[in-house]
Amino acid sequence: MAIQLYSEHKYMTVPPKTFPLNSPFYLFFFFPQSSTLNLKFTSTFLIPFRLLFFAISLNKVEMGLTSSLRFHRQNNKTFLGIFMILVLSCIPGRTNLCSNHSVSTPKELPPSNPSDIRSSLVSLDLEGYISFDDVHNVAKDFGNRYQLPPLAILHPRSVFDISSMMKHIVHLGSTSNLTVAARGHGHSLQGQALAHQGVVIKMESLRSPDIRIYKGKQPYVDVSGGEIWINILRETLKYGLSPKSWTDYLHLTVGGTLSNAGISGQAFKHGPQINNVYQLEIVTGKGEVVTCSEKRNSELFFSVLGGLGQFGIITRARISLEPAPHMVKWIRVLYSDFSAFSRDQEYLISKEKTFDYVEGFVIINRTDLLNNWRSSFSPNDSTQASRFKSDGKTLYCLEVVKYFNPEEASSMDQETGKLLSELNYIPSTLFSSEVPYIEFLDRVHIAERKLRAKGLWEVPHPWLNLLIPKSSIYQFATEVFNNILTSNNNGPILIYPVNQSKWKKHTSLITPNEDIFYLVAFLPSAVPNSSGKNDLEYLLKQNQRVMNFCAAANLNVKQYLPHYETQKEWKSHFGKRWETFAQRKQAYDPLAILAPGQRIFQKTTGKLSPIQLAKSKATGSPQRYHYASILPKPRTV
Ligand code: FAD
Repeated sequence: MAIQLYSEHKYMTVPPKTFPLNSPFYLFFFFPQSSTLNLKFTSTFLIPFRLLFFAISLNKVEMGLTSSLRFHRQNNKTFLGIFMILVLSCIPGRTNLCSNHSVSTPKELPPSNPSDIRSSLVSLDLEGYISFDDVHNVAKDFGNRYQLPPLAILHPRSVFDISSMMKHIVHLGSTSNLTVAARGHGHSLQGQALAHQGVVIKMESLRSPDIRIYKGKQPYVDVSGGEIWINILRETLKYGLSPKSWTDYLHLTVGGTLSNAGISGQAFKHGPQINNVYQLEIVTGKGEVVTCSEKRNSELFFSVLGGLGQFGIITRARISLEPAPHMVKWIRVLYSDFSAFSRDQEYLISKEKTFDYVEGFVIINRTDLLNNWRSSFSPNDSTQASRFKSDGKTLYCLEVVKYFNPEEASSMDQETGKLLSELNYIPSTLFSSEVPYIEFLDRVHIAERKLRAKGLWEVPHPWLNLLIPKSSIYQFATEVFNNILTSNNNGPILIYPVNQSKWKKHTSLITPNEDIFYLVAFLPSAVPNSSGKNDLEYLLKQNQRVMNFCAAANLNVKQYLPHYETQKEWKSHFGKRWETFAQRKQAYDPLAILAPGQRIFQKTTGKLSPIQLAKSKATGSPQRYHYASILPKPRTV
C-alpha cells in the first residue's frame, strides 16, 4: 500500500542532494528547527554541530581549490579531530529528547507514568494546541447518558498535528493507556466519540482545507473531516450545486456521518452518504497520512466508510455534487393500514421517475394529531381534512418531496399528481407545502432551536436505530407499534425503506441481507425528573423489549449506529464479516488506539488493568484481552 507522506511537513525536509545519504552531515537536517528538544540540548549540542558543518563546508570549498591529495588527507585528519572533540565535549548529561520526529529513532524509553505522559503531550510541536482544563466539554455526547472525561483535548490546525499525535501515542506503545477519539460534534448516543483518560481530537478545529468546489461534468467539493454539512450546503449552493445524499439533521460532521453511513430520504436513490464520496485523506492508527479512493488504497477507503472510526481519522473528504434545486414540494399523507403504507413506500422507491425523497413516520395514540403532524402544511381539501378523526388509532405518515425550480412548477405539479394518484392513502389527509430547498434540508435545526429554548435539547436521548429486512417488517410493525409501544409522545418514530442494490458493497457498514430493508428510528427524549413514560429507565426498558422481540422472532435485524457491550454481540453484529473487520483493525490500527468509545477493541497495554488482573487471577494465567467483553461499563451521568 502506497503511503502518502507529506513532503512539505517541516520534519520531512529532504536533505540537499550534494550530501550522500550515508554522510554524517545528513543527520544535521533531521533535527527539528523549532523543536521539542530542550534549550540546553539545542545550545550545547546542536550549535557546535552547525559550526562544525560550517567549517567543513569551508573546507570543502578549499578542497575544491587545491588538487593536492596530501593536503586533502591532512585536512581530513584535522577535521576528524575537531569533530571528535566537539562531539565528546558537547554530549549533555540528559538530552530530554521527546520527539515526534517522524523518522528519528527514540533514544529513551517512552514515559509511562501519567505526569510524564502529560508533559510528553505538552512537548509535541504542533500548529494547533493541546488543552487539559476544558476536558469536561468533551466528556459527554448527545445521548447524554455517560460522562467519561479524556486526559487532554487536541485542537488540530493541520493534518500533521493529528499525525504527530498518533505517532507519539504509537511511540508510547503499550506502556500507556492513551487512546484517541476523533470528535465531530459529539452527536453520538452511547459514548462513541468519548476517550476516557485518552485524547479527544476536536475535528472542528481542523479548518484546512477550506470548502473547495470543483464544477464540471462530475462536480465535487473538498472539505475537512470536521466540517458540518450545513456549511457545505450553504457554500455549494452559491455555485448552484449540492451534495446528493443527506442526513435529516445537518449539524453533524462529515467525519462523523461517514464513519456510520449517513442515511435519509434520498438514500433509496443515491445510497447513503458513504456512497457519494470520491476520495478521502486518512490518518491511520499508525499515524500515516494516506489518500485513498475506490482505485487507490481501496482497502483503506472501504474500511473507513462506515468503519465506526476504527481504522483512521478522516481529515479530508471529496464529496460528489449535483445541480441543486431552488424549491421543494413537501407532501404528507396518512394511512391507517401498515400494509398499504409500506406497499406504497416500496412502490415509490422502486420507480425510476419518482419523488426525490421518501420517508415516513408512525403516529401512536395522538389525539392532538391535526395540530401537530402537519403544522406548517396546507390541506388539499380543508373541508374533508377537518372531518378526519384519528380516534386514537396508530397511523402511518408517508412523507415525500419533489425538487423543482420555479419555472418547472407546473410540470412538477403534474408529475407529483400522477404519482400520488397511484397511492392508497386516506384521501382527506393530503397535506403539502412548498419551501426553499435549504429550508427543507435544515428542518431539524428549527426543532433544535425550539427544544433548546425549553431546555429540552440537552436531556438524555435513549435512541434506537434499526435496519429491518423487508421480509420481517410486517411482523415487526404489528408487534412493536401495536403492543410494545403505547405512545410516541416523547419523540418521533421514523420508518422508511431503501434499495440496497444502489448501495456500495465493500464498505464496513453492516446491513440486513435483503435488497430492500427499512430504517426504523425510535428517537425519544427522556425528560429529567419525570416518571412514567418519559422516564429514562422506562424508555431504555422499552428499547430492550423491542430488541428482545427481534431476537426471539429471529427477524435478522441489524442496529444502525450500533452499540454493544460484549465481543460476542459485536461478532454477531458483523456475522461473516467479523474476521475482515478484525484483520483491517490489525492492519490500520494494530495497537487499538482509535475510537475506544465504540467498545469493539481494547488497547493492549503492558500493564494489566484491574479487570484484566482479576480475570487472570481467576484463570490462573495472565492474559491480554482485546475486545469489548472486558471493557468497563461507561459511568452513567
Ligand atoms: P461524533 O458523534 O462526534 O462521532 C461519531 C463517531 O465517529 C465516533 O466514534 C467518532 O470517534 C468518529 N468520528 C468522528 N469524526 C471522525 C473523523 N473525522 N474521522 C474518523 N472518525 C470520526 N444519522 C443518520 O445517518 N441519519 C440521520 O438522519 C441522522 N439524524 C440525526 C439527528 C440528530 C438530531 C442527531 C443528534 C443525530 C443524527 N444522526 C443521523 C446520527 C449521526 O449520524 C451520528 O450521531 C454521527 O455520529 C454524526 O455525529 P457527529 O458528527 O457529531 O460525530
